[in-house]
Amino acid sequence: MSKTLIVGEIQKGGLREATLELVAMARGLGGDVVSLVLGSGVSGLAEDLAKKGGGKVLCADDAALENYTADAYASVIRKAIEAESPDLVLFSNTPSGWDVAPKVAAGIDAGIVTDVIRIEKDGDELVFVRRMFNAKFDSQLRVTGSPKLATVQPGALEAYSGSEGGSVEAFDAGSPQSRTTFVETRTAASGGHDLSKAEIIVSGGRGLQKPENFEEVLKPLVEALGAQMGASRPVVDAGWLPHEYQVGSSGQVVTPKLYIAIGISGAIQHLVGMKGSNYIVAINKDADAPIFEVADVGIVADLFDIVPALAAAIGSAKG
Ligand SMILES: Cc1cc2nc3c(=O)[nH]c(=O)nc-3n(C[C@H](O)[C@H](O)[C@H](O)COP(=O)(O)OP(=O)(O)OC[C@H]3O[C@@H](n4cnc5c(N)ncnc54)[C@H](O)[C@@H]3O)c2cc1C
Repeated sequence: MSKTLIVGEIQKGGLREATLELVAMARGLGGDVVSLVLGSGVSGLAEDLAKKGGGKVLCADDAALENYTADAYASVIRKAIEAESPDLVLFSNTPSGWDVAPKVAAGIDAGIVTDVIRIEKDGDELVFVRRMFNAKFDSQLRVTGSPKLATVQPGALEAYSGSEGGSVEAFDAGSPQSRTTFVETRTAASGGHDLSKAEIIVSGGRGLQKPENFEEVLKPLVEALGAQMGASRPVVDAGWLPHEYQVGSSGQVVTPKLYIAIGISGAIQHLVGMKGSNYIVAINKDADAPIFEVADVGIVADLFDIVPALAAAIGSAKG
């Protein structure tokens, strides 16, 4: 019988949705499910996870874990691995997940696969699946040795919605020391571009080719629709638009009535930020772009032809 250990994550005082996605993955693989919740004053969250399919939940409640540091968290996770001997350890592919998971793997000399979207079974062997080449191909990886560690892309699967009763066990974290000292948490200042309340979002991606095209090609459509402008990550990384425009796993999660994705391929990290939109329109010249998998209406066309025509048509219809 195999065993999976889930490393739970807390965000803004609650369990991260991504943790429940790990529960879904672990349960889909079968075998025993054990979870670990780390922090200070987290027994309520451990109870919550136990009720949401987390199985036996180890609760490492220790004042030394109040603020995340990779050193301290890694040492407790290693202790839990030692105590439970899991075959597979799952982390979310979030900033703290991708920070701590390799540290844990290096500490116990285990193999790790990051940014996984799926784990399949081939007999008794686990096959880790990742996306590559702008989500056009899947790569499959096998890992030798045990345990095997993986970070899983948030949004790659639905959160577990079952309610098997689990149990909570206190886990002695042993007041771990850290060579890193927590100083403070700073919330990024918002520049007033709040996509979370927008009813219509028109987002542009790398397909727009250069920053001027956001002003010259995208903005007329944004204005004709009374929408807000959004963007994919490469646009923000290139400095064409500020981070508050970014939609996706490392940007904002949005749920407008209408989301129009223009020149965006539909990588999973983008989809996780917008697939909850009520109605999705995608414009892309590549008929195989993954964005079309979530679109209600897909337009296969050159954006430089269609977007100005659309803006003009909407503008003249409005008079
Ligand atoms: C940890 C991590 C976090 C990430 N977080 C995010 C995130 O929050 N948000 C996010 O968006 N990405 C995120 N990414 C990046 C993500 O993996 C993709 O690289 C990114 O979403 C791709 O952006 P894009 O679709 O604009 O560019 P591309 O993938 O390059 O796609 C451009 C698209 O434009 C189309 N196109 C080109 N020219 C035209 C034309 N003339 N007319 C019509 N279509 C055209 C192409 O066919 C293509 O599909 C993250 C990645 C990692 C590893």
